Amino acid sequence: MNVIYEPKGRAREYSELACNLYLGCTHGCRYCYAPACMRTTDEKWHAAARPRSKVIELLEKDARNLRGDQRRILFCFLSDPYQPLEREKRLTREALGVVYANGLKSQILTKGCAELIQSDMDLMKKADTHLGITLSFIDDAKRKEWEPNASSVSDRLEILKRAHKAGIYTWVSLEPVIDPEQAINVIRKAHKYVQFWKVGKLNHMKEYEQSVNWRKFLYAVEELLKSYGANYYIKNDLRSFALKQ
Ligand code: SF4
Repeated sequence: MNVIYEPKGRAREYSELACNLYLGCTHGCRYCYAPACMRTTDEKWHAAARPRSKVIELLEKDARNLRGDQRRILFCFLSDPYQPLEREKRLTREALGVVYANGLKSQILTKGCAELIQSDMDLMKKADTHLGITLSFIDDAKRKEWEPNASSVSDRLEILKRAHKAGIYTWVSLEPVIDPEQAINVIRKAHKYVQFWKVGKLNHMKEYEQSVNWRKFLYAVEELLKSYGANYYIKNDLRSFALKQ
């Protein structure tokens, strides 16, 4: 395969197949793992984005070769498919179209521009794309501190609500959890229009990780999700705290 790949490690808990359309991501999240994966600095990765060279052409080749495969292809792990550059390039829309035209399945993971997501909902509905929004804060000041250029909490809640109403399968990546209380409040607020939750802890930021009682959070979040009859997946890093004292 050229641009569709099989993620490994923690990303594999999200999707068996994925594709990155852009190089760089201007959302500038403080916890971003992409610069380390791409062996570059946060400053360089977050300063600007550009389309990957010939990405749609290569995606078309991969999609033809994958026809009949039932695994969903996730857009994107290392950059946001609805970051501002998408307004001009429309690579995500094209990519969803290519996947659909080849009888394959897709899913989105974004904290991007609400109006861009909205403008692709027709295609998502037709292609049965699963729309995933990252949302681990309920307080927009906190969101701004950690995800400075991503969309606001209210925009993300609104787009989930609209997608659900439009008949699109919605899920939330409640990851990375940084403040347990904020995460719990996201579930309380959005559970009526979210069909699936993926919950994962913050990693690689020891000073913040150590201040959280992850075991307590794990029990609280499961109890709450169960009380709503929600479908969910707890990622292994967090699940492992069930065994720790
Ligand atoms: S949206 Fe994802 S890729 Fe973009 S800066 Fe945030 S964590 Fe990194």
